[in-house]
Amino acid sequence: IDRLRIPQRIEVGSKLPKAAPPHSTSFSELGVSLAIQNALKVMSIHTPTEIQAACIPPLLAGVDCIGNAKTGSGKTLAFALPIIQKLSIDPFGIFALVLTPTRELAFQISEQFVILGNSMNVRTAVIVGGMDMMSQALELGNRPHIVIATPGRLVDHLKSGSGEWTLSRVKFLVLDEADRLLSSSFVPELSYLFNALPKDRQTCLFTATLTTSIENVANTAPRPGKEKPFIHRM
Ligand code: ADP
Ligand code: MG
Repeated sequence: IDRLRIPQRIEVGSKLPKAAPPHSTSFSELGVSLAIQNALKVMSIHTPTEIQAACIPPLLAGVDCIGNAKTGSGKTLAFALPIIQKLSIDPFGIFALVLTPTRELAFQISEQFVILGNSMNVRTAVIVGGMDMMSQALELGNRPHIVIATPGRLVDHLKSGSGEWTLSRVKFLVLDEADRLLSSSFVPELSYLFNALPKDRQTCLFTATLTTSIENVANTAPRPGKEKPFIHRM
């Protein structure tokens, strides 16, 4: 974990109390844009879940975030909504990178981004193992706004040096299922990716299990001048 850059930027809060139950009850009150509210209606989603109510406002405000909530609680939209909303402000290159431990999860996350971003012409690319490298390289070259990837395959693409794309302008990094991503098997790949990512970015971790790795990440000193992350505990 020490070898990863990301942990050094994140400090929190084991001493912070669990967030008070949010009073906001609508996406509008959380600061979600009208365009996205309309996309949500199409998805038959009307009321934010607890993790969404807790994490969307800080993420929209540019604060790093650790979100801990059980499986099925809507963690994907807790980061997808702020990403899509902020994307319209800065549509240059790869805006957001979402890392997830399995290809199945990558496709599930992508589905939600595609539905949400459909009316806004958002381009997403899914970069996972077991699929054709060449077509993925083409997708990466097609200037996606959002890349959803498993770490190993994304590292393969970086190492192969194929094409005109870079992670160096990523503004928003998500570690989904962060407990699994921070397990030792992914550490070399994550290290490699963090070296390719800019330090000046927003980072969020989502997990159903608050492990000691994540607690350690949360307790490392923050980058100077960087606001403390917000942590939502289950
Ligand atoms: P998690 O990542 O926490 O396990 P997901 O983000 O995969 O959960 O969401 C689980 C399901 O809940 C998805 O089918 C999603 O569309 C749905 N969902 C997400 N947010 C809401 C909401 N605010 N209201 C109703 N359903 C929602
Ligand atoms: Mg999830």
